[in-house]
Amino acid sequence: MAHGAHRSPLLPPHPDLTAARDCEQCLGWGTVVTRDGAHELCRSCQPDAADDEGTDPTGP
Ligand SMILES: [Zn+2]
Repeated sequence: MAHGAHRSPLLPPHPDLTAARDCEQCLGWGTVVTRDGAHELCRSCQPDAADDEGTDPTGP
């Protein structure tokens, strides 16, 4: 999992489709499209969507 540092403008990050299956926000996609047209993890069902820093204690 060391290759997930960069983001693709076309492909969404790795959503948990199992968690997204019953989600009404993303309709099971696990991702939502922002106003910029970019995909981002659905904050309703994806636990990693809130903060990308994760375990990095040096983040703001
Ligand atoms: Zn969702």
